[in-house]
Formats: sequence, C-alpha cells, structure tokens
Amino acid sequence: MTTSRRHSNSRRDSRRKNNKRVMAASLVRCSNCGAMRISHRVCSECGYYNGKPVVAKKVKEKQTAK
Ligand SMILES: [Zn+2]
Repeated sequence: MTTSRRHSNSRRDSRRKNNKRVMAASLVRCSNCGAMRISHRVCSECGYYNGKPVVAKKVKEKQTAK
C-alpha cells in the first residue's frame, strides 16, 4: 500500500495552514465587556463565558481613567 503522491507536499501544507488560520480567526465580541475574544473560549479580559463569570478576574486594575 503506497500513499498517494498526486499533490505536492507544499500544496498539502498550504491547505492545512489555511484551515488553521480560519480556526484562529474566529473572534467574537464579548457580550460582557465588548473585547474581542476567541469564540467558545472564556473571555481573557473579564473571564466571562456565556454571560457567566467562569474565571475570577485578576485584581490588577488598569491605571488609565475612562
Ligand atoms: Zn469580556
């Protein structure tokens, strides 16, 4: 049993890379704080997921005034 060599390796790698890029680009806006976050992941800014606090927010506050 031999593997198919119809497509070059570079083409295969390119296709694989393109698929990864699509996965990484699936950003959505956080419904809690409005920051861009990766979909189906806990928000890195506020720690909320699906409207609920999943990860306790770090105590560190930004010094910048609103
Ligand atoms: Zn958030």
